[in-house]
Amino acid sequence: MADYNLLQNEAVIIRNDNVYHPIGKKLGELGELVLTNMNLIYVRKGIFGGTKETLKFPLNQIKKFDDKPQITLGKSENGYHQLEICFLNSQEYFVFNTFGKKEALKWLDKIWELLTGHAAELDEGERSYIPGIATVADTIKNTVGSFAGALGIKPDGNKKENVTIRCISCRATLSGAKGQIVKCKYCDTEQTLK
Ligand SMILES: [Zn+2]
Repeated sequence: MADYNLLQNEAVIIRNDNVYHPIGKKLGELGELVLTNMNLIYVRKGIFGGTKETLKFPLNQIKKFDDKPQITLGKSENGYHQLEICFLNSQEYFVFNTFGKKEALKWLDKIWELLTGHAAELDEGERSYIPGIATVADTIKNTVGSFAGALGIKPDGNKKENVTIRCISCRATLSGAKGQIVKCKYCDTEQTLK
């Protein structure tokens, strides 16, 4: 456990030493995330494990909207669950390497508790951590897509054919999708394009 330089009235609530704090698109090395009653502390580790830097993010700098702390659960580009926190001066991301969403939710709730006195207000979908409902749905969609592709059905294969006809009443030129009912803009006669 690194030295967090805690204040006298500051106490550690939870910690996790499998957390990335990406710099730009780079995940960097795994570091340690610590939640105290006053700060979120990130201990960045060097390649050889030693402490490279200790970052402190005061909890009272977390933005609130409608009394709701601006913290969301998101996913990093490489699919890890991450906490996305809006501080007054910056947006910070903490990526959980292990226990994914469950762990991210735990941190979200703890931070909410400290700031509001209760757990985070999330709907059931946001709380569920049945592995990747969204991912499964995506996979099915993609599978159906490639299945159709294998049969030679293009996704836009049912696109209507465009036709140009002469108005049945005034002989003006009308065009549009075949089968569509149109009103001639010259004589107002309704007719089907065929
Ligand atoms: Zn007409």
